Amino acid sequence: MAPCVVTRGDSRLLSKPELVCRGLGFAFGANYVFQNCDLTTFKDEFVAVIGPTGSGKSTFLRALAYLITPTTGHVFLDGEEVKSPSSRISMVHQSIATFPWMTAQDNVKLALRCKKICNGEATETSRKMLDLVGLSGHVDDYPKEMSGGMRQRVSIARALAASPEVLLLDEPFVHLDELTANILRQEIHSLVFNPETSLKSAILVSHNLHEVVQLADRVYVMNGSPSTIVDEIGIDLPRPRTERNPHFLDYVDQLYHELSLKNCNGRLRHPQPEAKLIEQPSRTAHRAYR
Ligand code: ADP
Ligand code: MG
Repeated sequence: MAPCVVTRGDSRLLSKPELVCRGLGFAFGANYVFQNCDLTTFKDEFVAVIGPTGSGKSTFLRALAYLITPTTGHVFLDGEEVKSPSSRISMVHQSIATFPWMTAQDNVKLALRCKKICNGEATETSRKMLDLVGLSGHVDDYPKEMSGGMRQRVSIARALAASPEVLLLDEPFVHLDELTANILRQEIHSLVFNPETSLKSAILVSHNLHEVVQLADRVYVMNGSPSTIVDEIGIDLPRPRTERNPHFLDYVDQLYHELSLKNCNGRLRHPQPEAKLIEQPSRTAHRAYR
């Protein structure tokens, strides 16, 4: 099966697709979590996937990376079918996964074990990646000596060390305090597309719609039961993006509306109990879905 070439109005998106999935579905036993999902990322694109809690976003990312084998459908990277986990697709998980008995540098070097390179080269690469994420002074620190934000930077450095083409980010800032998360959010886009990295595109899963509008070029909406991709929305705002842009909050509202009302297979899925509407003092019409 050959991946379709998706062409869109935006000339930036007329480039060749990077990561493509067609008809992707995953079932635990007989129960499909998501089905018939189509997604395409293009070069230098930051894509987001949103959906209610439990709609299968994390499972979808794992299936894209072949960390679990999809029940149906196909994944292609640069035109080649993906059939097993590959260092070309890296993932940063929401739980900050660093090994406490290893220094920052050794945590990053772990990603290079599958590469046939000597220890000296692995050390050099891991130092370069730690430098990239702003941890050049902490290569010999252990996770217990670092803040949550620093540990997540180590995870990002490890994900980048294997020279992936696609970075999958599963709610990477959800366990960080808001200030630290904000700093990392501001850095992640330029980090992902830094010429020092091999990355061509990134896919962020998040239920923080402000984060999604801040970062994504395009947003896929998952909903329904079982879930599928029910909509795709382009975010056309200049970067760097701030809520001071009058259209920023319009996009947040649009995404919230999509999540609240999208009906799939005749079954409506509402935001889960932990999804809160947060009234912003300055703009009461503006809502945050967290
Ligand atoms: P999300 O990331 O959107 O919150 P997940 O991908 O974590 O959703 O989970 C999607 C659904 O899959 C949930 O309803 C969850 O209960 C179910 N699920 C996750 N892991 C398992 C499992 N090991 N066995 C059966 N069902 C599971
Ligand atoms: Mg999840």
